[in-house]
Amino acid sequence: MDLKGKKVIVTGGGRGMGKQFAVDFMNAGAKPYVVDVVQESLDALKAETGIDGKILDVSKEADVEAFFNGYAAEFGAPDILINNAGITADALFIKKKGDDIIKFPMSNWDKVIAVNLTGVFLCAREAAYHMVKNNVKGVIINISSISRSGNLGQTNYTATKSGVVGMTVTWAKELSRYGIRVGAIAPGYINTEMVAKIRPEVLGKIIEQIPVGRLGEMAEISSTARFIAENDFFTGRVIETDGGMRI
Ligand code: NAP
Repeated sequence: MDLKGKKVIVTGGGRGMGKQFAVDFMNAGAKPYVVDVVQESLDALKAETGIDGKILDVSKEADVEAFFNGYAAEFGAPDILINNAGITADALFIKKKGDDIIKFPMSNWDKVIAVNLTGVFLCAREAAYHMVKNNVKGVIINISSISRSGNLGQTNYTATKSGVVGMTVTWAKELSRYGIRVGAIAPGYINTEMVAKIRPEVLGKIIEQIPVGRLGEMAEISSTARFIAENDFFTGRVIETDGGMRI
């Protein structure tokens, strides 16, 4: 796919990697539009880059349907969806503290499943619906994680990020008949606010395990997204952009 003039929707695009995707795709000639849950992030993005956006919680079915219907009515079907919005709410599965045994909180499970799995499902479904309806041979890019293989304290996050890879393969098989490609990226530890929340002593130990010897940069993940969008022979696979790290 030639990115020039292509319509790109980025979820969770107000800051972090989503913002980087939107800016880099714009610089490559595409027309990004972002959704996010924080109006200040959208306002700052608009002021800084001119990129438009709207409030959307990707986990709410009716809101996601309404957003995609409105977008399609105004601009037509998207050519590319970058399914980036994602959250963490870490906890140990079972934690013994003195005489207490603490269970993984159900609320942590529910909120991460809602955004990282249901949100990815809903946005991809609506994007694919409008692509098929308008005969647009588009691309859906899902953001998984190095943590999909199983990471301490991340039962919920791991379940969603491995689920994202499973959905990617399934949708690639189902949607290829319409000319739609679906790919995923599994970033390693990237220099973002999400990673800045990790305690410095823990982060130091993580970096020691990255063969490249440093955190990844957001532009390096964005360049992977461009590869997926531009390469018409790529579908149904996940690219691990993680500096060679295994967890
Ligand atoms: P981030 O800085 O937290 O950005 C995520 C964005 O999504 C934020 O603007 C966030 O809003 C928004 N968001 C949260 N819930 C949403 C919802 N329900 N609907 C729409 N938008 C929502 O995260 P990031 O580090 O850039 O990560 C982006 C993606 O990469 C995520 O899927 C993450 O799991 C994945 N990833 C990140 C890393 C890493 O090293 N950072 C590694 C592997 C994978 P708020 O401002 O309210 O938070």
